[in-house]
Parts: sequence; C-alpha cells; structure tokens
Amino acid sequence: MLPSTEYVESVERTLDSKFTFNCHKDISCFNKCCQNTDMLLTPFDILRMKKRLGLSSTEFLKKYTYTHIDEQSSHPFAVLSMNEEEGGKCCFLTPEGCSIYEDRPANCRYYPVGKGLMIRDTTDGPAPVDFYFFIKQPACRGFDEGREWTIQEWRAAQGVDVYDEMNREWQEIQLRRDNPGKPKLDDNKQALMFMASYDGDQFRKFVFESGFLNLFELDKDEVEKMRTDDVALMKFGFKYLKFMLMLEETLKVKEEYRKEAKPAN
Ligand code: SF4
Ligand code: SF4
Repeated sequence: MLPSTEYVESVERTLDSKFTFNCHKDISCFNKCCQNTDMLLTPFDILRMKKRLGLSSTEFLKKYTYTHIDEQSSHPFAVLSMNEEEGGKCCFLTPEGCSIYEDRPANCRYYPVGKGLMIRDTTDGPAPVDFYFFIKQPACRGFDEGREWTIQEWRAAQGVDVYDEMNREWQEIQLRRDNPGKPKLDDNKQALMFMASYDGDQFRKFVFESGFLNLFELDKDEVEKMRTDDVALMKFGFKYLKFMLMLEETLKVKEEYRKEAKPAN
C-alpha cells in the first residue's frame, strides 16, 4: 500500500518479534527519517492533524498532502508532502523534532515497524489478518543501540492502538476492493473514495447539502451525530464506501428511488 517499499525487510513478523531500537534527540541521525519519505496517511490521521492545526480537512489536504493513485488497485491515497524548498523535509519537522508529535500519523508512530493486512485462512474461514515487518532506512542508527522491544511493546509505547482501531474498517475496505477481479475505479469513483476517506468536511457538505439524505433510509440519531462529530462522520464514510464500491448493501435506498439509484460498477 505504501508508494515506496524500498527499505522494507521481506520477512514477516508477529507481535512477539523482537528488535533493538532507540530514538532520541542526541542520536547522529536525529530527524533524518522525516525527510524525503513517502508517508501514506489514513482517515484518522487527517482527523487528528486537522484538529490540532485548527484547519478544515479540505484545507489540511490542500496544504500538507498530495494524492497518490495506487497503480494496481486504482485507489487514491493522501500522502504527506515534503517541503522541496527545505531539502525535502516534512512540513512538520523542526530542529527539535516533530512539531505535531502527539498527533503524528500512524505510519510515523509505527516506524521502524510496518503493518499490513492480508486475507488468510483462519479457523472461522478466510479473514483479514494483521502482519508486521521491519523498515530499515539506511541512515537510521536507531537499530544500533537501546533496549529490546517486542512489536507488541513498541505499539503500546507509540500509542497506535486507537489509530488501528479507527482505521481498521477502512483498511479492510481497501483489501476487499483490491483484487484482480475488481474493475479499476473511474475518476468519479476515485474522487468519491478520496472524499469519504479523507475529506470529512467536504463529505459532510455532500451528505447534508445535496439530496443525499432524501435518497437513503438513515438512522435519525446517526445523522444528527454526524453533523458535529467527526469520528461518527468518518465511520459513516466507511459505510458509504462499502455501498458505493458494491462491497456490501450498507445503505438502503428509499423505495421510491430504488430503480434509478443502484450504484454503478
Ligand atoms: S509528521 Fe512528524 S514524525 Fe511524521 S514525518 Fe513529519 S515530522 Fe516526522
Ligand atoms: S533515523 Fe531512526 S533513530 Fe534517527 S531519528 Fe529517525 S527513527 Fe530515530
């Protein structure tokens, strides 16, 4: 899913896998990892960062990201922009480190660990299962010193649990839609997928200021919550994506519109 997999180790790891690592301000490579890197963003990353910066999601995306279309799946992803005028440094990097550290994206938190999701045979049949791997940037000296961690311990220390919980449904949508039998998304579907994934403020307008609410049978409490609650809106966005991408009948079109409103493939 990442645009660049150059430094990814091709060995699959588990939560119990161990590694030695330390990252601190006095290390010779301090801040090197936050330059010229392809940092793919998730829906919950955008919520956290736009809130911290007091921006709308539309403003945040315009100012700090670019869109990457995955060649294989044709899915659109937001990627953190690097500042070319500053030698490719992340826009949030300062000499003291990350200026949005408490709200840094999930992939920044995970580094030097990466996480993926794949369909595996389980006792309950085929199901999405997490897997892990190490990412070793050549300039990173963190592996040369420090304490031993398991991936489980690293996740807890970096606070990624809430990110994984919030993004899980979205990641499963990506996985379910990304297989050779599925047709490529056209420009319109890509734009809708991007909006429902990342641009919550635009998606809110789409829901409340178009004929959307008239078209579907929706739960009144859920609709009211979405007016002001960004997380509720994000979760509804995932529901909409499943419907729009024809993965599940998560939304019910009102009887009078049924013939004309079937989602096109
Ligand atoms: S958001 Fe922070 S941690 Fe992530 S690349 Fe930018 S400066 Fe580094
Ligand atoms: S390159 Fe590695 S050790 Fe150096 S600051 Fe980045 S994560 Fe830490």
